[in-house]
Amino acid sequence: MAGGRAGASGAGETQPPPDEPARALAAGLEAARVRVVALTWTDNAGIVRAKAVPVARLEAAARFGVGMSPCFDVYTSADLMTASEHLGGPDGDLRLFPDLGRLVPLAAQPGWAWAPVDRYDQTGRPHPGCQRRFARTMQERAAAQGIGLRMGFETEWVVATPGLEPPSTGPAYGMTRIVELSDYLRDIAAALAAQHIEVLQIHPEYTAGQFEVSTAPAAGPVGAADDVVLVRETVRAVTARHGWRASFAPRFTAGTVGNGSHLHFSLDGMHRDPRGRYGLAPEAESFLAGVLDRLPALTAVANPSPASALRLVPSHWAGAYRCWGVENREAALRLVPGDPADPDGGHAEYKCADAAANPYLLAGSVIAAGLAGVAEGARLPEPVAGDPAGRPGAERLPSGLGEAADHFAGAEFLKEAMGEVLHGAFLAVRRAEDAAAEGRTAEEITDDTRWRY
Ligand code: GLU
Ligand code: MG
Repeated sequence: MAGGRAGASGAGETQPPPDEPARALAAGLEAARVRVVALTWTDNAGIVRAKAVPVARLEAAARFGVGMSPCFDVYTSADLMTASEHLGGPDGDLRLFPDLGRLVPLAAQPGWAWAPVDRYDQTGRPHPGCQRRFARTMQERAAAQGIGLRMGFETEWVVATPGLEPPSTGPAYGMTRIVELSDYLRDIAAALAAQHIEVLQIHPEYTAGQFEVSTAPAAGPVGAADDVVLVRETVRAVTARHGWRASFAPRFTAGTVGNGSHLHFSLDGMHRDPRGRYGLAPEAESFLAGVLDRLPALTAVANPSPASALRLVPSHWAGAYRCWGVENREAALRLVPGDPADPDGGHAEYKCADAAANPYLLAGSVIAAGLAGVAEGARLPEPVAGDPAGRPGAERLPSGLGEAADHFAGAEFLKEAMGEVLHGAFLAVRRAEDAAAEGRTAEEITDDTRWRY
């Protein structure tokens, strides 16, 4: 079916024909003085790539898609093209279809709106490398087994002047920082609220100039990944309007705590089972055990940059050990029991992830690992209390990108879940980024990546 989307492989396809809603939406956007719509997708390097269309072209974009080369599936974060068995080179084209259900005017970019896209080939078939589709497929796979998932990403970032100075100098978690940057933080909270993102908390973090915002979980993993893309770009835009820059890179400067992007998730109705171990329904325990078992392969997805390894170090609250714990901020997987009086309380935190990770790939890969655990009826080992650093038997997560990529390359559960095209392209980008970092010092890698994310 040339010029449109064929088949029914996800939420995008179950929507009504796009021209009607697109026309109505465009009229509303015109009335709200929106001129341009940014259409984004997140690539295998974790970079948000974009095409933009004037509002007058939104209907055409929704109907026919917008062209973009598939070569970006094998771009590195330094914008160098590598190749996988299936992708790379100058040939071919894809169509980007905006998800109109997520379209929203951007509060910190007057005259602009944003929508995430799904990617299709020119004959209307879903692109097998589409990361957002992968997340949706995993979400649907879980739902087919009766497992509903809520997810939400935390966002940490460092704000700095063009000269790399932090505009706030107050202590970690200090009210001083809120006083110093009160207009800035208010503008972020207000912009997110205007974009229908519910802010749970916004606060100073540890490192100088570091802040964090956490937002309400989304009903599904795809929604959570969309949310975090929007949150980061909003923080970036508000920061620019204040004359500063925002960095979400795993490490901003040497010798400090880095930026994480922890993934919180819960299995609907399964974190309050009085008969289960740790208050978890057996399926939820198996899901978590499946994730825990597969952390080495997941590290390539959650910590995909050479800079990720500089953050993922012991005793920095980054979760550098393959263990889980109840409310333990040094464990890669943290169980948060929540308020016992809250029936929706209780969730898990995939703590070791950083913002170089593609959130769609991370959400989908965590589900794939969890479902593999459910299929095996896996059980959790004993939880770890305290900092595992230096303890006998404590197992570090892969401490470099090459090692993480080796685990990823051999992970059958990810090959099966992602499919050959996506798995191969993602691996090719890891290998290329690892090769590019060879011989670079930690400081050089930090400099190389500081403003890429
Ligand atoms: N900044 C820490 C990290 O790299 C996390 C601190 C926290 O627990 O929020 O993940
Ligand atoms: Mg934090």
